[in-house]
Amino acid sequence: TPVNPVTPDTPEFFEEGALVGVLTTQPLDRVLDYKAPEGGCWLGAFVEVPLGPRKVLGVVWGAGRGDWDISKVRSVSRVLDTAPMRAEMRAFLERAGAYTLTPMPAMLRLGTRAPGLGDPPSMRKVYRRGDGTPDRMTDARRRVIDFLAEYGDLSFTLKELSELSGVTSSVIKGLVKQNVVSEEEAPRDMPFPPLDPSRPGKELTADQEAAAAHLRDGIRSGTYGTTLLRGVTGSGKTEVYLEAVAACLAAGRQALVLLPEIALTAEFLTRVEARFGARPAEWHSGATMTERRRIWRMVGTGGAQLVIGARSALFLPYRDLGLIVVDEEHDTSYKQEDGVLYNARDMAVLRASLCSAQVVLASATPSLESWANAEAGKYRRIDLEARFGPAVLPEMRTIDMRNEDLPGGRWVSPTLEAAVRTRIEKGEQALLFLNRRGYAPVTLCRACGHQLGCEQCDARMVEHRFLKRLMCHQCGESTPIPEACPSCGAEGRLAPVGPGVERLSEEVTALFPDARVAVLSSDLFGSARALKAEIEAIAEGAADIIIGTQLVAKGHNFPKLTLVGVIDADLGLQGSDLRAAERTFQLMRQVAGRAGRAEAPGTALLQTFQPEHPVIRAILGGDEEGFWRAEAAEREAAGVPPFGRMAGIILSGPDVGQVFDAGNMLARNDGPLRQIGAQVFGPAPAPIARVRGRHRVRLLVKAGKGVALQQALSRWVSQVKLKGELRLAVDIDPQSF
Ligand code: ADP
Ligand code: ZN
Repeated sequence: TPVNPVTPDTPEFFEEGALVGVLTTQPLDRVLDYKAPEGGCWLGAFVEVPLGPRKVLGVVWGAGRGDWDISKVRSVSRVLDTAPMRAEMRAFLERAGAYTLTPMPAMLRLGTRAPGLGDPPSMRKVYRRGDGTPDRMTDARRRVIDFLAEYGDLSFTLKELSELSGVTSSVIKGLVKQNVVSEEEAPRDMPFPPLDPSRPGKELTADQEAAAAHLRDGIRSGTYGTTLLRGVTGSGKTEVYLEAVAACLAAGRQALVLLPEIALTAEFLTRVEARFGARPAEWHSGATMTERRRIWRMVGTGGAQLVIGARSALFLPYRDLGLIVVDEEHDTSYKQEDGVLYNARDMAVLRASLCSAQVVLASATPSLESWANAEAGKYRRIDLEARFGPAVLPEMRTIDMRNEDLPGGRWVSPTLEAAVRTRIEKGEQALLFLNRRGYAPVTLCRACGHQLGCEQCDARMVEHRFLKRLMCHQCGESTPIPEACPSCGAEGRLAPVGPGVERLSEEVTALFPDARVAVLSSDLFGSARALKAEIEAIAEGAADIIIGTQLVAKGHNFPKLTLVGVIDADLGLQGSDLRAAERTFQLMRQVAGRAGRAEAPGTALLQTFQPEHPVIRAILGGDEEGFWRAEAAEREAAGVPPFGRMAGIILSGPDVGQVFDAGNMLARNDGPLRQIGAQVFGPAPAPIARVRGRHRVRLLVKAGKGVALQQALSRWVSQVKLKGELRLAVDIDPQSF
């Protein structure tokens, strides 16, 4: 339940001694009363308050309630040195918390992910032109003086100045002594270099210009609006939304671009730098503490105009956010599946609606949700139909695996093999796509049939031959590959079943011994940096054949790539998930879109055992509108999102009996749900039934559109007593159903 909601009549400033309600990051269900400290405090101020024997972080959330003995109320200990949280941000946290049924302290933790929040910034020495003259001139000194004559209004660290002017630091120190160069202390949290939105962008085609003009109009209106920017890979969506960023910066407001894989943004940052003359702030989990702290502070003061970030960048305290771009908006990684379960795409729309910002959802294969919102008139939709320049869309064909002569243990059909050979003989690149990490998905004992599984999870152990280990893809547990079967003890009888990318690479190396083969799979690279370097090398032609998982489907630009071979196009179609068709359609079209980005035309070949399957036919046929309409009709008939509402309730604990008991109790006591006409399914084992030794069961709730689902859910689940290690998580709009 939201507490002390922000209302227009809330006083903005609290005099010393006034009662204030403080929301803390501690797991307490309410806002606590304190007295405003000496000097008073602003509504939204970040404060430290005493809680029992400790001091904890909090935000002044409103006036105190004061319905108790005032003399017992303690004072706020300290007001932190950072801008108060804006009303719009407080409202965002409350609305997002109410939507995802997340307690406010957890929401506040999302909104305060900055190390050393409120501490005075640490200082460092910076250098600029002083007013002295040198006692004698040398070449080195001349270089420093000339450099500072040009850039003297900026300040540099010692390292920067010595590198940029090409002298040793002792030369600079010598000049400092004579005050030719001045040395000062400056805060470490410096503004980011200014971006210049007036620099010209690429000359746009007529279609692109029309799209850009619409986005610019939205920005100029200064109001909320969401645009679905749909366009095939390579049609110039990025060029177009960079125009919106330019308009937003020119209007003096901040912009945020969300990318699904922040580790793979090198190409994007280079484009931003080329467009605006400097690098923007880059927010992601791999950033150092100092970088994050700097971004957090600069976003609040306007010293960061543009942030490129992962989904958590939505929770930064922007001073004036005017635009949020969600690139590859259909990507499932926008859904946070740990802790607070939220979809960054939906939260972007919520946030923008609260701060009068524009949202651009960009994708070649939009989510059915966004497609339906555009159909319903909630979003404006713009289509870019053609690829830019000479690049054309790849030709797509199936390889009917029922007709291919392929021995067991091999996955590259003769037809695909011949196609790869033709391409690499021409000096072009081929990509073989298989969405399975590791060597083989299953390892089994040929003596007893036992399949190696994780002891902690309901998952198979996957062999990773390069790492010489078995790994659980759920919990990350890994063990050396055993000699003997852990079940029957037979030695040397363990065998891999089915293909993973590593095994595929063995086959490909045997088929093409002279080709350079690169495997792109997240677990083969120790760091994001190493992966980035590999991707850049491949783009420059360091490999003839690329073997990759889902990782390669996302936005990389390989100019020499002209052939995409999908090893198993049927993989995603198995299983009962109602989103399977949508996901397969998106993934296949994304992967195929990697081919033929430059002058050479591309081909995509899909190996399938069911070429007549409607989804496979839709992928080939290119009738996207038809596909969406058919999908929408099916979902509408089933009453599932986006035409109905769903929520998952996950109960978990070490004792499977206790977990199921709690689930059954909820299923029996479904009164609050029946009141809104909602149905409960389950309890059933969750899609991942056991993780790290905890058993998980799921109940699915299906409701009509426009009912007060969250209220009913919170009344319903409050019936469970969370004893011992039993946990309950609510997943609004689950990814699979
Ligand atoms: P998308 O985001 O739709 O995949 P991009 O914006 O990345 O497409 O464009 C694909 C390629 O074409 C990029 O290298 C981009 O710089 C180039 N491009 C697109 N539009 C233009 C244009 N109007 N002028 C010059 N190059 C363009
Ligand atoms: Zn495991």
